Amino acid sequence: MARRPGSPVAAGAADGSTQQQPETIAPDDQGARPILFPAVVWVAALTLAGCVPAVADDVVLAPWAAGLWALAGIGLAVARLATGGRPRHGDARSTRRLVAVALAGAGLGLFAWLTSLVAWLTLQITLGGRAGAPSLALAGAVAGAVLGWGVGRLLNGQRVRRRLLLGGATLLLSALAVLFVVLTGPRDLSRYPDPAASPYRLPWTPGVPRLCVQGNRAVVSHRAGEEFAYDFAMPVGSDVCAARAGVVCRVDTGHDGNGPGAPNNGVLVDHGDGTFGGYYHVRQHGSYVRPGQPVRQGERLAASGNVGRSLLPHLHFEVTDEEGRTLPVTFADVPTDAGVPRMFGRYTSGNGP
Ligand SMILES: [Zn+2]
Repeated sequence: MARRPGSPVAAGAADGSTQQQPETIAPDDQGARPILFPAVVWVAALTLAGCVPAVADDVVLAPWAAGLWALAGIGLAVARLATGGRPRHGDARSTRRLVAVALAGAGLGLFAWLTSLVAWLTLQITLGGRAGAPSLALAGAVAGAVLGWGVGRLLNGQRVRRRLLLGGATLLLSALAVLFVVLTGPRDLSRYPDPAASPYRLPWTPGVPRLCVQGNRAVVSHRAGEEFAYDFAMPVGSDVCAARAGVVCRVDTGHDGNGPGAPNNGVLVDHGDGTFGGYYHVRQHGSYVRPGQPVRQGERLAASGNVGRSLLPHLHFEVTDEEGRTLPVTFADVPTDAGVPRMFGRYTSGNGP
């Protein structure tokens, strides 16, 4: 437990030698003022935010969690400013400090959200993708609480350490943002067909919004021969619908479990023009169709899953040529982003009858 002058614990030691510390602290002494209240708010907010995607067993709600993390950071920063070092009226430094502290709080919030997402993915991988909502919620809560406590301790430390922490986090986030923009996403949009004339629609139930967790030329995979593939997060058992009409030419749903070398399940649909639609990671025995069966656009193909080389419950969709190389495709029901779903973008299917 942190040493807290004047707290009931210190006063209650009551062996006669305990001294009551003076309550007044210099307003500008950022290091000494207890931050119990903002720390409690911070930990509670992080715990809540860590639980949101976990309870949903899906990263669809991750942007909401990101917003909560950022709010938690800003809340902490404002509370910190309010409890320690009250800005003097007409002091130019106080405005600068308000902006700096709010920015630092938001940055820390985003950093905390990334940490919880990594913790969640690690748990999914460790438990073979079958971690239930309660254990994921617990992991999110523990990660949030530990992180909140750690950050609270650091912020309450000396100025040099705080500046090093904030500077390091800012540099790291900036570098990640630059790398993300430069190294990922569609390389050349002129290679993609016109979305208004596209024969493809998003491969799930109409009206449902889903998060694209990996787009074309992405971070984890979808490079080289897989460059034009898409990953859409969806809870295990969600309906996977045909993006385009065709004839089912392969169904392989005998496998279970996931990991780096785990065999994959998939359904392949022949579009009749030398292109094939592939739907992967579907649930064991989860196919609703059989080879040779014609399917209409929007028809239910399979139940989604988390099988094969998969980190989280999602559908991997790709269109390939006869050699199995992925081809650039657009979706007629994606009115934004030139019809090309982007990583961390949310898209609503219009794949109705
Ligand atoms: Zn994928």
